Amino acid sequence: MSGLNDCDQPGTVNNQPSSTPPTFDAVRAKPTRDAISPSPIASPALTTSHASGPHVVIVGGGFAGLAAAKRLKRAPVRVTLVDRRNHHLFQPLLYQVATAALSPAQIAAPIRAVLSKQRNAEVILAEAGRVDVARRVLETDQGDIPYDYLILATGATHSYFGHDDWSKSARGLKTIDDALEIRRRFLLAFEAAENETGEARRRALMTFVIIGAGPTGVETAGAIAEIARTVIRRDFRHIDTSRARVVLVEAMGRVLPSGFPRELSDRALADLRAMGVEVRLNTRVTRVASGDSEDGTPHVLLSSPNQAEPERVDAHNIVWAAGVRASPLGASLGVPTDNAGRVVVAPDLSIPGHPEVFVTGDLARCAWRDGMVPGVCPAAVQMGDHAARNVARLVARKPSEAFKYVDKGSLATIGRAKAVASVSGMKFGGLLAWLLWAGVHVFYLISFRNRVIVMLDWALAYLFFKRGSRLITGERDSPPPA
Ligand SMILES: Cc1cc2nc3c(=O)[nH]c(=O)nc-3n(C[C@H](O)[C@H](O)[C@H](O)COP(=O)(O)OP(=O)(O)OC[C@H]3O[C@@H](n4cnc5c(N)ncnc54)[C@H](O)[C@@H]3O)c2cc1C
Repeated sequence: MSGLNDCDQPGTVNNQPSSTPPTFDAVRAKPTRDAISPSPIASPALTTSHASGPHVVIVGGGFAGLAAAKRLKRAPVRVTLVDRRNHHLFQPLLYQVATAALSPAQIAAPIRAVLSKQRNAEVILAEAGRVDVARRVLETDQGDIPYDYLILATGATHSYFGHDDWSKSARGLKTIDDALEIRRRFLLAFEAAENETGEARRRALMTFVIIGAGPTGVETAGAIAEIARTVIRRDFRHIDTSRARVVLVEAMGRVLPSGFPRELSDRALADLRAMGVEVRLNTRVTRVASGDSEDGTPHVLLSSPNQAEPERVDAHNIVWAAGVRASPLGASLGVPTDNAGRVVVAPDLSIPGHPEVFVTGDLARCAWRDGMVPGVCPAAVQMGDHAARNVARLVARKPSEAFKYVDKGSLATIGRAKAVASVSGMKFGGLLAWLLWAGVHVFYLISFRNRVIVMLDWALAYLFFKRGSRLITGERDSPPPA
């Protein structure tokens, strides 16, 4: 495996098993689908030949998958993009849906619509369960899909570090459903507190614990504190929402522990504290108890080196923003993965022994500098784009090339006109960083309509301290959050 991780390696790489690059003809010389597919094709769509050329199957319509599909627009291939959801999701703004600033349609777009003008591409709504690399077949819940080239881009999900039962109370933020559920619990908590006469329960209802102080945790904690102290303050009669307690827990010694220089972590910490967020550094969560725990009060236990006993914090709202684990599809490739399930890729993003299979985005482990290419959108876009370029090169009987990651910097927002930015060696915070953060996020949103609407919503929120999406969805009579 030596040398496989060096994604910085310049120049051309040919990691193919033989000296001849695999070609369309060689790949097509594999057994036909009838001969290699043991299970019937379930959907007529899966058999449709919408274009000619080698069949490139892309799994995942996130940042990497969509970038790959778009890159192949003019290549002499037919592209099939498979996703279990019908929409591409702009995850960096999910916390804004969870905290009622934006509505789901503003940060998502139907994949079918995004690719509607790309004549060589079709979209299949299906969940991929396994890759059979020997037969060159993707197995999905809608039937098997044979491929000539495969680009895997199924991303990552939450990891509760072996405590999957915590997910019941500490909801992670990864999908629109997650964001809507967090929003529901968050808004319901204030409603329940308004009707509550017991001081302890009211306090627990108005306590929000966010676990993990990476960008998502910092942004979520800042947004909740801001809403409680400004946006909804005048909407209630029996509670003072500005007394809501927001606790941000981080196991490391600083907020934004990776990807940001120390001084920006310190600045973000100062901003959070100025907004009233209680930040607990060097603190681990050792228990997350749901509402059906022994005393009926949901809570977390926090341990830090300077405390003899774990501290208990009663909270009806707990958000998990700590660990991630790669999509399980990577494991079915039968090649080495790291301890988070990421597939260790060759310099050209292919997998050992299978130059026709590429792994991209959050699912890939690709070494960079002293660590690995980070799990962020620009990296996923660059990887997806690069894998597709390599497919086009192989089809054209040219050798594949090594991937070179271009670091575009790091941005995180803390609240209104508060953000931190590390871009091209410059480190700054405040309004300028916030404007940059807003501009970059609007720019990368899919669809012109979404860009305009989000900009308008943000401008109105900035000027009038309003949040447009404070609707409680789900069961009308749902109990207060567990
Ligand atoms: C809350 C949150 C905030 C973030 N904030 C930032 C930020 O501010 N800046 C930044 O750069 N990055 C941020 N990230 C990280 C960034 O979103 C990821 O790095 C990026 O989305 C990775 O792209 P991807 O294409 O690898 O995976 P994804 O974008 O996650 O796409 C994976 C796709 O695969 C599909 N899929 C998964 N499994 C299957 C299956 N078995 N079958 C079919 N389809 C499947 C999914 O439905 C999804 O569409 C954030 C992530 C989260 C969760």
